[in-house]
Amino acid sequence: MEAFPITKISGENSIEKQLRAIDLAPPGDVSFVVISHLHLDHAGQVRPFMDEKVPVIVQKRELQSALSMLWQGGKGGAYDMSDLMPLRGPNLTPISDNYFEIVDGVAVEFTGGHTAGHQVMHVETRNGNFYTFTGDYMHLPREYEIEAKGWLLSDADEWHSYIRKLKVMERARKARIVISHDPEFWSKYPRAPKFLE
Ligand SMILES: [Zn+2]
Repeated sequence: MEAFPITKISGENSIEKQLRAIDLAPPGDVSFVVISHLHLDHAGQVRPFMDEKVPVIVQKRELQSALSMLWQGGKGGAYDMSDLMPLRGPNLTPISDNYFEIVDGVAVEFTGGHTAGHQVMHVETRNGNFYTFTGDYMHLPREYEIEAKGWLLSDADEWHSYIRKLKVMERARKARIVISHDPEFWSKYPRAPKFLE
């Protein structure tokens, strides 16, 4: 809330309430959790899953980088120790794969770029639609359009390479590129109990 003062969050935004709205009883109905990266606005609300032994998948490099930055005093990264502490435990699943197909139609892919261990998630729905959830790879559609990212960038070279790959996927697989931080995009996404089909 201090970092993003325009953000409003209430009890309705809790992961339990949002999942119940789509008829899933957390954490038992959840098979696994994927975290794109560990920045403070992406790594909260993991605790209910950790208590119930749901695998939580994060890139090993992301965890190493976040812990390293925090141990050095927290400068240079939007990481918060209170988000990382609940990750400790036997169901934390750190991966080093570039591409990991978790189940048919759901895969995570390492991208780096935004942070050292950033990953995106590709989902093919029952209706045959292909979505790529880009985490913070882009904050705004404009970054994707002009292939430039002004801030919060860990590796510019890595970032530029993957942008082109995303554009191939968008063109060749008709992938819908989901960007999280744009208010205009956000207003168009369905709200629970509706969902992307
Ligand atoms: Zn981020």
